Amino acid sequence: MSNIKNIHKPLIITKPVLVNLGEMHEQLEDIWSSGWLTNNGFKHQELEESLRRNIFDNLPTSLVSNGTIGLMLALKALDLTKGEIITTPFTFPASPHAISWCGLTPVFCDIDSRSLNIDADQIEKHITKRTVAILAVHVFGIPCEVEKIEKIATRYNLKVIYDSAHAFELELNGKSIVNYGDASVFSFHATKLFHTIEGGAVVFKLQKNKNRCDLLKNFGIKNEEVVECGINGKMNELQAATGILMLTEKDKERELRATLIEEYTRKLQNVKGVILPEDDHNISKKSLQYFVIRIEESTFGCSRDVVYDKLVEGNIFPRKYFSPLCSNENYYKDLSSAKKNRLPIANRVVKEVLALPFYGGLEIKDVEYICDMIVSIKKLD
Ligand SMILES: *Cc1c(COP(=O)(O)O)cnc(C)c1O
Repeated sequence: MSNIKNIHKPLIITKPVLVNLGEMHEQLEDIWSSGWLTNNGFKHQELEESLRRNIFDNLPTSLVSNGTIGLMLALKALDLTKGEIITTPFTFPASPHAISWCGLTPVFCDIDSRSLNIDADQIEKHITKRTVAILAVHVFGIPCEVEKIEKIATRYNLKVIYDSAHAFELELNGKSIVNYGDASVFSFHATKLFHTIEGGAVVFKLQKNKNRCDLLKNFGIKNEEVVECGINGKMNELQAATGILMLTEKDKERELRATLIEEYTRKLQNVKGVILPEDDHNISKKSLQYFVIRIEESTFGCSRDVVYDKLVEGNIFPRKYFSPLCSNENYYKDLSSAKKNRLPIANRVVKEVLALPFYGGLEIKDVEYICDMIVSIKKLD
C-alpha cells in the first residue's frame, strides 16, 4: 500500500459539467440585448418549454430557483400545509427540511435493502389521521415502487411527491418517471448531471398545480395584486441560459458516464462483499447521477469506514452518502419515527454505502486504479 500512496492525482467525487464558454457568451449577448434578466424571460420560457417537451413527457413544468425551494413549492401548490408526511430517512436533508419548513411533520419509514428507497410495504403502518402525503425519493436514480405507492395513496387519499433530484431523464418502460405522483421535483444544482448552476424544476400531474406554483414562486402576485402568500422561487435568465446549453452538453456526459459504469461493474462484479447498484429491468433509461456501491463487512472482510480511510490515503475521495441518516440528525432524532430500532435497514445500510468518483472527465484508468485499490484493501484484511 505505502508505495502507491499519494502518487496518484486526487480523484474527487464529482466535477460539474461546464458549458462551452463561447456559446455561453452568445447566450449572454442575447440576454444583454433583451435587457431582461429574470421574471419569466425568453431563456426561462425556452428552457421550460424544451424540458417539458423533450424530457418531461409534456407534463406541466415549472422552473424554480433550486430543488429545495421546488420541494417547498410543490407541497404548497398541492395545498399541503399541516399534518404528517411519510418519507425516507435515507436522503439529503433537503427532503425532510422542506416538509418541516412548510409546517408539516416528517414521519420516517424504513427503506428497502436493495433499492435503498422507502419500503412501500411499510408505508401503511405509518398512516394516521394526520397523514396527508408521501414524499419518496428515487435515491441514486433507482425508481421507487411507484405502482405500489400509487395504490396506497389512492386508498388513503394521500398526495405523492417524488424528490427526483437523482432521477433526471430516468425512464421506466420507455416513460419518464414524472408520470408517477402528483409532483416530481428536480434539482439542477451544479453537482447534478444536468444543471443550471443552481436551479430546479417541478413537474406536476395537473396543469392547475403548475399554475399555482407559478403564482407562488413569484410572491403570490397576480396582475399586480397579491392573491397568496408566495415566495421568491424564480429561475433567472443566466441560470436558464446555462440549462439551454446543458441540454446539448449532457448527452456527451451521459455517454462518458455510461462507459465508466461498465468499467466499474466489470472490475467489481465478482468482488465478494461489494454490492453493486440494483439493476432494475424496468429501467429503460438511467439517470447516471451517481455510482454507489455497498461494502458488506461480513463478506468483504472489513468495514466501509476502513475502505473509505484507505481510499483517502490513496488520494481517492469517495463520499458516505447519505451518512448520517436524516433521522439521526439532531434536528430530527427526537421524533418517535426516528428511533433507530424502528429503522433497522436504514441504520445498517448507511454504514455500508460508498459513492465512488463519477463524472465524465474521469478516465478508465482512474476507475481501474480505484477498483484495484478496493480489491487490494480486501486482500490486506
Ligand atoms: C441535490 C438534492 C436536493 C437539493 O437540491 P438543491 O437544488 O441543491 O436545493 C434535494 N434532494 C436530494 C435527494 C438531492 O440530492
